Amino acid sequence: MDLTFDRDHIWHPYTSTLAPLTCYPVTSANGVYLELKDGTQLIDGMSSWWSAIHGYNHPHLNNAAHSQIDKMSHVMFGGITHDPAINLCKKLLNFAPDNLEHVFLADSGSVAVEVSLKMALQYWHARGETRPKFLTLRDGYHGDTFAAMSVTDPNNSMHSLYKGFLPEHIFAPSPNIGFWQEWHESDLDDFKRTIDAHHHEVAAVILEPIVQGAGGMRIYHPNFLKGVRELCDQYGVLLILDEIATGFGRTGKMFACEHADVQPDILCVGKALTGGYMTLSATLASKHVADTVCGGEAGCFMHGPTFMGNPLACSVATASMELLETGDWKHQTEQIEQIFAKLLPALKQHELVADVRWLGAIGVVETTKPVNMEAIQAHFVEQGVWIRPFGKLIYMMPPFISNQENIEQLIAAIQNALQSSDCFS
Ligand SMILES: *Cc1c(COP(=O)(O)O)cnc(C)c1O
Repeated sequence: MDLTFDRDHIWHPYTSTLAPLTCYPVTSANGVYLELKDGTQLIDGMSSWWSAIHGYNHPHLNNAAHSQIDKMSHVMFGGITHDPAINLCKKLLNFAPDNLEHVFLADSGSVAVEVSLKMALQYWHARGETRPKFLTLRDGYHGDTFAAMSVTDPNNSMHSLYKGFLPEHIFAPSPNIGFWQEWHESDLDDFKRTIDAHHHEVAAVILEPIVQGAGGMRIYHPNFLKGVRELCDQYGVLLILDEIATGFGRTGKMFACEHADVQPDILCVGKALTGGYMTLSATLASKHVADTVCGGEAGCFMHGPTFMGNPLACSVATASMELLETGDWKHQTEQIEQIFAKLLPALKQHELVADVRWLGAIGVVETTKPVNMEAIQAHFVEQGVWIRPFGKLIYMMPPFISNQENIEQLIAAIQNALQSSDCFS
């Protein structure tokens, strides 16, 4: 493998051409394991960024890809339809909150978010109201394209770099009350104050339900989400839930909004939707939103990507839904949560640990010092695991098929890293 070429010419996510960090060469992946070029097997703690929930090289998913590729890999979706898209959307609507009736298939999570924002804007345009703003939370993450970035935490996504171009939206403080903590009515005060002040210009509230992912791995109380839904109803503001990270069982419920028993007007899904194979996302809308959008001046929803509804991606996603339909994910995520609950609290004793938190198949160790990426990555590989922290966050979101030993080994590797001062800067 030409790693010199890679280092000299290929950009990886958030990397520098001036000071490229080590990239580890992976040659295959199977079950919970990534295999490096030298034969080293690493237990994957990341599910390739929340996606590979059933593990790698899964026979049922492989089968779906093989049988679809021999029929057709892709056809345009304008004026044409096919079983892979129909089958997937049927299953999606079965799983999703039951007020949602219309599915827009898109290319990636960021695009699903763009689509949701465009839907909300077209909705208010059709109703003859000017509502150019979105209300969201600090510490959120919604993607790397411009509109998605504009509702992502201003500091984390460095809004200052794009000032003058990036639209400015409204940010409420992120919930300061953990999932397992005791709820007080006052925990909603900051959000209430913000929506009270701005609701006339707000098209929609957009947020990640229960777990704020890449913006800070914060896991918050369901009553906060309940309160947001009530306030949106009270003011007639739409609610967009971004379940791109949390959807399809990751938090121990099929969708994280089920923890609070709320339904969004618009729902974004991606990542685990795909079973971890090919990029695909979807934006779901209620009948009221869809019909209002399409009753407006444009007479349609104004979006249509070239690779919309890609049959290959849809077939694998359908197969992934079939695996979820067996219900095994419930037991699996419950078991993973129990191991986190049993082993993570002990790490709090360590002076480098600021906090530990978990929910479903998500485990987080927040440190007091930022990690030294190069050193800690090498440490984890040496320990036989693949965990990729950022800043002060070392987190695990393993494939649901991980067994007890796998999870224990991930936690042990973190524990070891905490003993090694060169892993932190
Ligand atoms: C990853 C993520 C996105 C962006 O998805 P991409 O496929 O990377 O564009 C948006 N929202 C949330 C909550 C995510 O976790």
